[in-house]
Parts: sequence; C-alpha cells; structure tokens
Amino acid sequence: MALLSVTEQDKKVYEELRDFLPDTFVDCHTHIWLKSHEIEGAEHSFSWPDMVAEENSMEDLLETNATLFPDKKVISVLYGQPMNYIDLEENNNYVAQWAEKLGCPALYLTHPGESDESIEAHIAAHPCFKGLKVYLEFSPAYIPANEIRIYDFLPPRQLALADKHGWVVQLHIARPKRLADPVNYVQLKEIEDNYPNLQLIVAHLGRAYAKEDIGDALEYLKDTKKTMWDFTANTNQYVMEQVLQYFGPDRLMYGSDFPIFRMKARRTVEDGYYINEIPADSLGDVSSDGHMREIPYPEAEEISFFIYEEMLSAKRACENLGYGKEEVEKIFCKNAMRIFGME
Ligand SMILES: [Zn+2]
Repeated sequence: MALLSVTEQDKKVYEELRDFLPDTFVDCHTHIWLKSHEIEGAEHSFSWPDMVAEENSMEDLLETNATLFPDKKVISVLYGQPMNYIDLEENNNYVAQWAEKLGCPALYLTHPGESDESIEAHIAAHPCFKGLKVYLEFSPAYIPANEIRIYDFLPPRQLALADKHGWVVQLHIARPKRLADPVNYVQLKEIEDNYPNLQLIVAHLGRAYAKEDIGDALEYLKDTKKTMWDFTANTNQYVMEQVLQYFGPDRLMYGSDFPIFRMKARRTVEDGYYINEIPADSLGDVSSDGHMREIPYPEAEEISFFIYEEMLSAKRACENLGYGKEEVEKIFCKNAMRIFGME
C-alpha cells in the first residue's frame, strides 16, 4: 500500500510549488529510525509528532520525497529519532549505513552524557557524519521541561569538541517562550562567539511558530555572522521574512522534519499560540492537545500536506522580499551543500 495518498487537491497545491522549487534541493532535517530500535520496556511519549509515524525507514523517506516531489531530486540530510526510548547506537548505525549507501550527509545523534572519545570514534568511523544532532529530551531528568537551557543538552564540553573538529551542531531550543526567551538567544550568541569553528544550525527558526515567539531575539543576534537557521516544520511567512531580513538568504535552509511534515495539516495562530488543523480522524485521539484541532469533512478535503504549506510560506516570503532564482537556490540547496560539505 502506498504510504501517502495524493488527491487532486494535493496536485493542485503542488503546481504552485513546481516552478518555485529547484530541480535538485537539499532537505537538511530528516529523521529515520525503525521500530526495532526501540528499547524494550522504555517509556514511550505520545505527543502529536509521535502519532504521525511509528517508524520512518529510509525506504519510507525515499517514497515520501518521490510521492510529494515527483519531478525533483531531493538530497536528505539524515539523523535518528532523538527520543529516550530509542537505542541511539543502533539508530546511528542505521543512519550511517544508509548515508554511506546513498552518499548523503548525516548527523550523529548524541547524548549529553556521551564521552568525547565515544563521539570521536563514531564520527571517525563514519565520515558521513558531519557533526552532532542534540536534543532537549536528553537533558537530565531532574530539570523541569520548562527550565531546560541549551547547555543542559549540549554541554560546553561537547561544544568544545565540535569546535575542535569544525562540526555542524543542530539545535532545537527549549522553553515555553521559545526564541523570545533571553536564556535561549543569549546562549545562541555565546555559542557563536565562543566556538567560532563549529557550525550551529537553529532548527525550526528557533521554534518561533508565531510572530510573538520572536521577541527581541533577532535584534540581539543581528551581528552574528555564521549561525544558520532552518525553517523546518515552520509555516510562518512573517517569521521567515524577519529571519531573511536580519541575516540574508545565505543563512536560511529548507528542512522537512519528515516523517512529521508528510501529514495532512495546516497551521493557524491564535493569540500567539499555534494550532495545527488536521482532517478529522486522520491521526488518532488529539483531543487533549491544545495545539491540535480536527476539521470535519468536507472542509478537511482542502487540507493538503503540511510540507507544502511550509514551502508555500517560503515562496511567499521570497516573493515579498523580491528574491529570484538565485536566492531560492541558496535557501533550498546551496547553503546546505556548503554547510554539509557537498560542494
Ligand atoms: Zn526534527
């Protein structure tokens, strides 16, 4: 059975993207893992992103791209599933196998407790690993979720290691105020200032899914020269335009967050709070999640793939800023090629 079913409505939406997207583009943010990488008996989280897919094999990722972008070539940057119930070693090995087979870049999924020697040995063994993927889920369990700081899951010791080797570090910031939280943006600047040799990527535009999530962050970071931003899983055209206006087209990258963004959904923001509108009964019981809203049929037929909405927002942002093919090519392809050494 096909992984995704494509309706006439979906095809119509894709037509709006076909000429905008370069023939080859790089997706700098994808997760692949198998159910067999789960640690037996480990506690499983079931927030909405976990409900989209139980696993995302490389075969599924290839099928996703082939189905959604039938006439394009997509190069995916691969990493594992950053969850405590996943055996990171097995998942990293799976990622490395595929990255080597397909010749695409990958990031090594690490834990703040992993020793320098272990990280170095794994990355040396697999040159496909261009750096580290870190995640807030791996912060020490005693720290309340709302109080997690970057250094709790990306300790200075690992930053120094990444700096020594010139690695990429991809970062998903925590805390309820997201990018607007000074604890986050002050530390982002500290990282760029103190570790000039590593390449930081701020995932999801700092999780600024609403314009209220920006706060003073971009102004504070305006003199940074290197930090990259990926707009993975972000559909907010205003936020994209702001990041582009502050940092220019050399600092933004496309990412999908597949498998999550292969779901059918659209996003709206109400009082600074994002809400994903999904077709009724398409995901499971989401009634307890304030970020999710089910839309009944027939209205739900208008809802296409989430990734298309993300890309259409990027298209409108580029149009509004007067960008042409050259800038779009940077955002969707060349920047990632530079950062992941594919040139
Ligand atoms: Zn992700």
